[in-house]
Amino acid sequence: MRILVTGGAGFIGSHVADALLRHGHTVHVVDNLSTGVRWKVPGDARFIQKDVRSEAAAALVAEQGYDVLVHHAAQMDVRRSVEDPRFDADVNIGGLLNVMEAGVEHGLQKVVLASTGGAIYGEPVYTPQDLDHPLQPVSPYGVAKLASEKYLQYYQQQYGVDTVSLRYANVYGPRQNPHGEAGVVAIFAKAMLAGEQPVIYGDGTQTRDYVYVGDVVQANLAALEYDESGVFNVGTGRETSVNGLFQQLRAATEADVEQHHGPAKPGEQQRSVLGYAQTTEALGWGPQVDLKEGLARTVDWYREELARESTGRLSE
Ligand code: NAD
Repeated sequence: MRILVTGGAGFIGSHVADALLRHGHTVHVVDNLSTGVRWKVPGDARFIQKDVRSEAAAALVAEQGYDVLVHHAAQMDVRRSVEDPRFDADVNIGGLLNVMEAGVEHGLQKVVLASTGGAIYGEPVYTPQDLDHPLQPVSPYGVAKLASEKYLQYYQQQYGVDTVSLRYANVYGPRQNPHGEAGVVAIFAKAMLAGEQPVIYGDGTQTRDYVYVGDVVQANLAALEYDESGVFNVGTGRETSVNGLFQQLRAATEADVEQHHGPAKPGEQQRSVLGYAQTTEALGWGPQVDLKEGLARTVDWYREELARESTGRLSE
């Protein structure tokens, strides 16, 4: 199939693009390199540096007539969305609509959207948060992702395009961008390997559901095979506190650091954990890589990256 991966110069999108190429698909990547970097785009993908909001991106979609859109391009900084909700909506809703409008007129058959669990469900009423859990986004970022899912349902009804929204938990792994939702893994791992002291904001009891990027890739592949539309959680059902994550990363890096706490971040969500039973039922998907193994792989990758940096062979 001919597949457009937006945000394919980013952390998750680049891993998805790699896997799609391995499965024999033709992959084009559109990314404006705002947080993404060129080296992450797989060599066998065609890279087109464009903003998903631009007329040029819409023209490309119209001209190429892609079969599938895998939409990962986003403004994904929750704090920035609070400071500038219009910018967030412009990129996250406006960008999606721009490529969708061109796509539905030119043969698009399927869309996979990188949505979010934590920011859409908000503070848990019960755990794990499944698809029946109330949707209580508290940030413009969460509101925009929920609106994006609803727009895709509209396109499905209006034009018959199959749409699958994957509500990711906190994704971590090699190539991770430290500014993302699970950026804490990248920040702690890099600091510990460099012999620096990471800071835990607040008392460290806040929890998240950390899902390995390889498992998220598998969910994208399963979504591609699925011949219906739907919304699914992509998480592990397991909660890990920031303190727990710190300890696991300290063990994985063998760093000589103590738990050091700084002031809490105002408005930070206290808990988040996603149930995935419906994802298993419909897509046959479940997480395969546990946190210990995933963190070990991630730390190995950062170790190699630090070695590359120290020898001047930067990957960027
Ligand atoms: P990332 O920042 O590494 O990737 C996002 C990519 O989108 C970057 O390459 C960036 O340059 C590109 N981009 C941003 N604005 C663009 C624009 N206007 N036009 C074209 N390209 C643009 O982040 P990521 O962690 O790989 O996130 C990918 C997707 O997954 C996002 O949609 C994000 O909201 C979603 N998500 C991520 C997590 C997580 O834990 N990382 C959790 C839930 C959802």
